[in-house]
Amino acid sequence: MKLYNTLTKKKEEFVPIKKGEIKMYACGPTVYDYFHIGNARTFLTFDAMRRYFEYRGYKVDFVQNFTDIDDKIINKAKEENTTSEKISKKYIEAYFQDAESLGIKKADIHPKVTENVDEIINFIEKLIDKGYAYAINGDVYFNVDKFESYGKLSKQSLQDLQSGARIEINENKKNPLDFVLWKSAKINEPSWDSPWGKGRPGWHIECSAMAKKYLGETIDIHGGGGDLIFPHHENEIAQSEACSGTTFANYWMHVGYLNIENKKMSKSLNNFFTLREIRQEFDLEVLRLFMLSSHYRNPINFSRQLLESSKSALERLYNAKESLEHHITISKDKELTDDEMEIYNKVLNLQDKFVQVMDDDFNTADGLAVIFDIVKETNTKLNSEKPKKLLEDCLKVLCELSGVLGLLQKENQNITDEIESLISERQNARKDKNFALADEIRDKLKSMGVILEDTPQGVKWKKL
Ligand code: AMP
Ligand code: ZN
Repeated sequence: MKLYNTLTKKKEEFVPIKKGEIKMYACGPTVYDYFHIGNARTFLTFDAMRRYFEYRGYKVDFVQNFTDIDDKIINKAKEENTTSEKISKKYIEAYFQDAESLGIKKADIHPKVTENVDEIINFIEKLIDKGYAYAINGDVYFNVDKFESYGKLSKQSLQDLQSGARIEINENKKNPLDFVLWKSAKINEPSWDSPWGKGRPGWHIECSAMAKKYLGETIDIHGGGGDLIFPHHENEIAQSEACSGTTFANYWMHVGYLNIENKKMSKSLNNFFTLREIRQEFDLEVLRLFMLSSHYRNPINFSRQLLESSKSALERLYNAKESLEHHITISKDKELTDDEMEIYNKVLNLQDKFVQVMDDDFNTADGLAVIFDIVKETNTKLNSEKPKKLLEDCLKVLCELSGVLGLLQKENQNITDEIESLISERQNARKDKNFALADEIRDKLKSMGVILEDTPQGVKWKKL
């Protein structure tokens, strides 16, 4: 499997630290508002990557943090005359709801800064002990001059950075590029006790401390949106590698921007749509398919027109699934002819091709194209006359590959209705003591892959 590594600017063969396991950390949201669909693209990308790694047999430990200490949260709390905790709690809950509505699974751990202040303080103390950081007037800064390879991720030397930087006047800093690890407390702001007095962590340190705590000193993959390369990830590397003396992350993966009229969607430009707004108009599975139709590193230009065409594509996908399910209900068990064997082999070859394109730096655009080739094959060549086994196997491939991308997960409404009505027919037959009919219906449901369970609360069903 090959992954593009921002650190080397090359596609590299992916070799995990421990065979069969992946430790992956993605920077999560600052929880002061509902997230917009630009943020969603980044969250969704790492969700789809994780699903794909799992499909390829890896055990993935995936951590995505919540930044729940930040100026934006404090300001919002002031505006709304409430506390930072209430604001972050509200938007963490909203994050989980919105992420779920886009089919984004929970990470294994979603650590919060407020729950890791001790770890952050220990981390900073270690940096001071090792001579990489200095405390002054209650603040602590990282001394970039002490970290030799500063700039290696964003490919800038300290000199380039110094000449390019808008130098902020701060007499406390030894180098204007030094960044804050600990900020002394201001009045009416949340603060914690520390060896440097009351204060709170700077932004970058949280991810270094949490990645170390939950995944270890060296991790396989670290990612986020492209805007995080500098300064956030550059600073994370400096802190983590200064602290541990070893590599922080072997592969750095960054997601292209979701743009609107060719400008990055962002809160500050006020050109954003929240997921909640899009949900008023579109099923969010459409948005998911839309985003995965581009390679994750390429920019996407968002438009409703493009969403409309993703909507038709998604309909084609569901129609293919539903018609296969329908054919299966009336098809019969029989041997496959040579021609039918050829159809099956073609579908299996397409499955291999899916893996091949996804293994090439996670090319979901080509992966989706392969799924639509399967749709074309099954739509044109399969019908109720074909052997049940062939239909079932092709449906399985279609659902499995779509599922890897988090698509085609909804129960088919028509089938659900049909199942429900067969179950009530069976109940009536039983009431009338027509057990032969009841058994016949149970068998029919079984042939549809539906298993019935008689429970004290009534009949329940599940799909095999
Ligand atoms: P934030 O809450 O601003 O820290 O952003 C959360 C994540 O969304 C980060 O990984 C950002 O890099 C990412 N992000 C923000 N805006 C966009 C965008 N327009 N397109 C893609 N990713 C974005
Ligand atoms: Zn981070």
